[in-house]
Order: sequence, then C-alpha cells, then structure tokens
Amino acid sequence: MNQTGTSIVRFGEIQDMVKAYYPDADLDLIRAAYVYSAQVHIGQTRRSGEPYLVHPVAVAMILAQMRLDEASVATGLLHDTVEDTLATPEELERFFGKEIATLVDGVTKISKIEFESKEERQAENFRKMILAMSRDIRVLLVKLADRLHNMRTLGPMPPEAQTRIARETMEIYSPLAARLGIYWIRTELEDLAFRYLNPDRFNYIKTRLQETLKQREEYVNNVIRVVREKLEQYNIKAVIKGRNKEIYSIHQKMFAQHLDFDQIHDITAFRIILNNVSECYAVLGLIHSLWRPVPGRFKDYVAMPKSNRYQSLHTTVIGPDGLRIEIQIRTNEMDLIAEEGIAAHWSYKEGKIVEAEDAKVVNWLRQMMEWQQDLEDPREFFENVRVDLYPDEVYVFTPKGEVKEFPKGATPLDFAYSIHTEVGHRCVGARVNGKMVSLKYQLRTGDSVEIITSVHQKPSKDWLKFVKTGRARTKIRHYVLTEERERAIQMGMDSTDRELRKWRLELGRAEKEGEMLKIAHEYSFKSEADLYAAIGYGRISPKAIITRLVPPSEREKAKAALAEEKHVKKERTTTKSGVKVHGLTDVMVNFAKCCNPLPGDPIRGFITRGRGVTVHKQDCINLQTSDFKRIIDVTWDEDQPIRRTVKLGLQVENKMGMLATISGVIASADSDIVQANIKTVSDHYAEGTFMISVRNLDHLNSVMNALKSIKGVRKVDRLGVI
Ligand code: MN
Repeated sequence: MNQTGTSIVRFGEIQDMVKAYYPDADLDLIRAAYVYSAQVHIGQTRRSGEPYLVHPVAVAMILAQMRLDEASVATGLLHDTVEDTLATPEELERFFGKEIATLVDGVTKISKIEFESKEERQAENFRKMILAMSRDIRVLLVKLADRLHNMRTLGPMPPEAQTRIARETMEIYSPLAARLGIYWIRTELEDLAFRYLNPDRFNYIKTRLQETLKQREEYVNNVIRVVREKLEQYNIKAVIKGRNKEIYSIHQKMFAQHLDFDQIHDITAFRIILNNVSECYAVLGLIHSLWRPVPGRFKDYVAMPKSNRYQSLHTTVIGPDGLRIEIQIRTNEMDLIAEEGIAAHWSYKEGKIVEAEDAKVVNWLRQMMEWQQDLEDPREFFENVRVDLYPDEVYVFTPKGEVKEFPKGATPLDFAYSIHTEVGHRCVGARVNGKMVSLKYQLRTGDSVEIITSVHQKPSKDWLKFVKTGRARTKIRHYVLTEERERAIQMGMDSTDRELRKWRLELGRAEKEGEMLKIAHEYSFKSEADLYAAIGYGRISPKAIITRLVPPSEREKAKAALAEEKHVKKERTTTKSGVKVHGLTDVMVNFAKCCNPLPGDPIRGFITRGRGVTVHKQDCINLQTSDFKRIIDVTWDEDQPIRRTVKLGLQVENKMGMLATISGVIASADSDIVQANIKTVSDHYAEGTFMISVRNLDHLNSVMNALKSIKGVRKVDRLGVI
C-alpha cells in the first residue's frame, strides 16, 4: 500500500477506491476537484519533469488508502492550488463549499510555517502548533499525505533541500503521524528521511537485510508454522504475520544498544491477529508455554491502552535457535487502529471498528461530524474541534520565528516574562501580527508577537489579575512584594525611631549596639530589616520594642519624666499666643525682642521663614526696614489673656529701703518681678532695670505710674529691648 511511488496514479483508481469503502460518497465532488486541479496546475511541472498534477493526485490516493471522507480526498487534490496557482480561497469556496475551502486553507497555512530546528523543545512546540493549527484533524491528515508523497519523490531535489526536508520530516511529521497513531506513515516517513539524513548507514542496513533475507525468511516461516500448529490444537483461528523491522528502527536499536547488525536478532517482529480479547490472552499463554518469555518485556496495552488508543499485547520470548523474537498479539480492530490510528476512526460505514470500548473518541468524532453538518460558520466548528486537540494551549511566534507555548488566555505579559524578567517588568504592550495590542490582549495560536518595553514601566499588582503563566505571576508578585516590603521596612523604621525618641533613645544607636538585632532574633527574624518590615506591616507594635529595649526600672523612671514632659508640653501648647493672625489663634507666634510689644500696643506681624509670625510694635524700626511683602496684619486676642514681660529702666535716689519699696509697689500693682538689677551710679543715684510681668499696656502704665509716685524715683522708662 506504500509503494505508489512516482507512478502516475490514474484518477479512476481513486474513484474506485473511495467507492469501495464508501458507496454513498459524493464522487462528483472528487471529480470536480480533480478537473479544477488539473486546470489550474496546467503547464506546471515538478522537478522530476512530470506534470505537477501527479502530486495532488498521488496525495489524494494516499488519503483514499486511509479511507477518508470525500472532503479529505478532494482537499488532497486541491491542497496546492491556493499556494502555487492563481486559485483563491474565495473561488474554492464558490466551487467546492466552505468546508473544502477551509480545509485547503488549513493545509496552506501549515505549509507556510517555516520550521527552524534548533532544539528538541522547539520541535515539540512546532508539532503542537501544527496540531493546533490543523484544527480539523483532516487538515493534518492531508498534510501528512502531502509530506509522504514529497518524501517518496525527494530524489530530484538539490541536496540542501533534501536534508532540510528530511530533517523536518524526522523531527516534525513522523512524530505527528505517531501521535495520531498512523504507524505505517510514521515508519515510512522515518525510513525515507533516514535515507537522506544518514545515507551510509541506511545503505549498510539495507544491504545487510537483503543479504540475510533468505535465512530470515526460513526462520520466520518456521516460527509461524510452530505457532499455527499450537493454535490449531486449541481451535483458534488467527492471522500470523512475520514482518521485518524498518531500517530506521533497526538503526535506532543498534545505536542505542551499541550493537552490530549481526547482534540484532529480533529484526523480525511477529503479529498474531485474533477475533476477540479473550483469545488474545489465551494465545499469550500458549506462546509463553512454547517459548520462555524474557522477563520485563511483557506489556499489556490492552488493559492499558496508549493515549492514541493503541492496544496490543507485547511479549519477547526466546524462540527457536535461542533467538529472541518479539510478538504482538491483538484483535482485528486493534490492528486496524494500530496501523491507521485516528484515520481508522474517520472511516465511514465502518462503525463496527470502534464499538463501545472507547466511547470518548467515538463521541468526539460523532460530534465533529454533527458540527460539521449543523454549523453555518466553520470557524465555530473549528473552535469546537480545537478544544479537543489542544484545549488549553496557544502557540505563538517570536520575532525570530521560534514557537513558544502558552496556556490559553496568556497575554503579552506572559510572553514578555518568558523572554526575561526585565522584559516583563518593562513591558508596556506588544505588536501582534504588526498591530499594537494592550497588555490584556489574549494571544492566539499563530500570532507573531513582538514586545514593546519602556524604561519607565514597572510591574503593577493589577497585572496579577490577567497574567496566565506561573512564571509571570511569580515575577510580578515578587516585584510587588519586594517594593511593598521596602516601603514597610521604611515605615517600620520611622515608627520605631519615633517611639524610641519618646524614651530618649535613638534607633541608630540601638542598632549600633546590636540591640535591634537581638530583638529581631527574639522574634525569630533573621535581620533587623525583617523586624522593621513586621512593624511596618503592623504585625508588631513599636511599643512592644520599647518593652524589650528599656529595662523595667528605667521604664518607670522614664515614664515619670515623660509624663512630666508631656504635662509641660501640653500646657505650653494649649496656651494661646494672645495674638490673632488673620483671625486665627493657633498660629505660631513670637514676640520681637527689639520692641517687645504688649497687649494694647498697636502691632503688626512679620512672616519668618519657618518660625511662624514675629509680632512687632507697629512703629518698630526693624519692622519698617523689613521686607514689606512679609508684613501682615495681626491683632491682640482679647479673649486670651496673657502676661508679657517688659523691661523697665529706673533712676532712683540711692537710699536705704528703696529696692524694698519698689518691690512692694510692683507687687501691689498686681505685677511680678521676673528679674531685677540695681547698680549704684554715684553716691546719690542708682540705676536699675526691672523685668516685670504685666497683662497689657494699661496695666504697665498703672505700674509705671505707681512707681513714679514713689518718693525718690526720678525716672521710669519702658525699655524696648529685653
Ligand atoms: Mn503538496
């Protein structure tokens, strides 16, 4: 079935084949596709010199061999028309309907992906991307058929192209065929690719296989005869096949186990195909009774099917002549699935193949068929099919053409963080397929993504709400927490420092003396920073630090001192200045020493830099020479009685008892002497200065008048400067 080769496949053969497995097929559609393809490809030739049409016809033939539906076969005929001819998707849709136009479009898109092999991880992402882009699995089946025929006809291509295409086949397409469970395509692709990638090795193994062919055939026939006789004893009907391993898989075995060709004994694998599962286990027992099984080589893929639904019993036994032989035992259905994989499910009118045993896949396929028929918009259909292929992933290109995998819903931020943490931190947006998108844009498979950064950008807590990858989340959270922590440490230090100062302690000093580290350790923190952070976050109160820092005895002392200070402070702060500034009473006010105004004096204010308002007498010479822009109107606050200290200069007769008389008069005038200073000027005169406290100008005048009335007092002056 694999040997179509370069021979021109007559179109009629395809029709006959489809008709055979699918009598109700729409053969008109296939015929129309053939005619159209022949028209648009006319005049084109392949490198071999053959008409180009040979290729799409051969691809359609392979699809028919896989027993696919008429849409797949038609797509095979049309798959290169959009890329290589003047045909357009619109025209295809007009002639063949949306379904086929979309299938062709899918194949065209995959063909445009340029695979650059760099590492295994990349290859895997490319495979997934192709799978995701295939959406409808038939797209991939057509692509595989296309690749298979291209590989069969790779000979005329230039050597570089041969190597490149062979590599792509080995790394991308044969694993994809394996994933879909289509083993015959996988192994043929592998052998074809291997032939171009390692021709020496390929030819060596091929030659050795031919040399040993006769000998092996005899051996195979012998084994088959022994098995058949045994099964006949038990009345079990079976198909028994002996099959040479493929060249590439022999190579892999030689390579992996460092063996020569002669040391590879299980080049032939045997397959026993039965009618039901219970026969499979029965035959396994019979085989093991014939030949000794090799321990550890038995695998039960019947009870535990592979993810692609492959089922079979595998065993290795020591066969005739002491040679190891590999035997696979399975039912007809299992064999079909093993050979054709997902394509087997696709076959029409073969419902009996996939009876209830795997309801999931059957349901999926049935759903696909139903959607396909019911939905007007094929995109909706593809979305649904896609869900079953790679529901949770998207694959996008980097500017360098690499493919990156992301969870569904991933954003440019996830992409940016996958490049580098700093790129993520600085990401402000992205260009997707050349268009600007926001940070919240959700990436779609096939997008080309280019990240835009700015040095002014920094991560925000909000980003956590829409990023999808763990990496981005971790990096953003880390950044945000670090920033928050730094803030918390600063706040913790500030509040600790403030608290310590109340106790006449300093944080810097406490740190230097190791006190803070000690306390941090008491709280099981590693560092002071951790302690400050805890204080900053409000988990520990700064007061709690004091109780650990200040010994209880001193704490009492300090408390008392503090209480007193507080009391004093309170008094001071509640005492009003007695001056209103623009009607405000709580402005910080100083009285100018140069003129020392008293309540009752006409006054004005001068706005100082940082020390409030200085109140001068209106006629103060200093005020008049000051910056007039800073002079403001102020008034005495009649409601806030204050006492002011003024300085008086007295000239008195120098006689006994004069100081006592003056003191008595001042006291009886309801004033206090704050300070007194008397010095003798001569035998008869003395001069004194008295600092007294008064309520206001009237009060001062009455005090001064009382003083002037004292016998022996010659002069009383209010002195400006105190
Ligand atoms: Mn092609």
